[in-house]
Amino acid sequence: MTDNIYSHRAVFLDRDGTVNTEVDYLSSVKDLRLTKNAAKAIRILNQNKIKVIIVTNQSGISRGLFSIDDLENVHDELRRRLRGKGAHIDVIYYCPHHPDDGCLCRKPGKGMFEKAAKDFDLKLNKCYVIGDKLTDIKSAHNISARGILVRTGYGKLEQDKLRDADIAPEHIAENLYEAVKWIIKNINRGEND
Ligand SMILES: [Mg+2]
Ligand SMILES: [Zn+2]
Repeated sequence: MTDNIYSHRAVFLDRDGTVNTEVDYLSSVKDLRLTKNAAKAIRILNQNKIKVIIVTNQSGISRGLFSIDDLENVHDELRRRLRGKGAHIDVIYYCPHHPDDGCLCRKPGKGMFEKAAKDFDLKLNKCYVIGDKLTDIKSAHNISARGILVRTGYGKLEQDKLRDADIAPEHIAENLYEAVKWIIKNINRGEND
């Protein structure tokens, strides 16, 4: 397969507050709701053959709030609902550790992104990170990708912190769908080659 402008690219999605609505420590499918037009957004990426990778901090596991089985049930249901709308996630990586564990995978660490780069032959500086927290924007910065803050989940609150932050998102979008539309434009205009 020959490369095109979409090759070696992924859009890394934060999960809570970005793909699904924020609930404190989501652990049950009964609390799972997609954010507005999330499936449509993911479908656009799928159609352009851009990898869609969820990277999520799930310290609730090491806090003993839920089990890996609970987490996987939520992820199965998330995939099932997206599939029902013609959208798919290429892979979901999660960090189960506690912030005090000092692991390499917890965002804004690079662990999950570097694993993805290896698994999917990505050029991280051509990738994008979409999330509702400054942690997600820091992750983007740490891997030299482009960060987009969405105003769903904690996004509006986090936006207020930007003035005092030492990093800035490349773009701020109302939601995942708007973020994806911006990304497609960004790529098509050759602004991230
Ligand atoms: Mg989030
Ligand atoms: Zn970790």
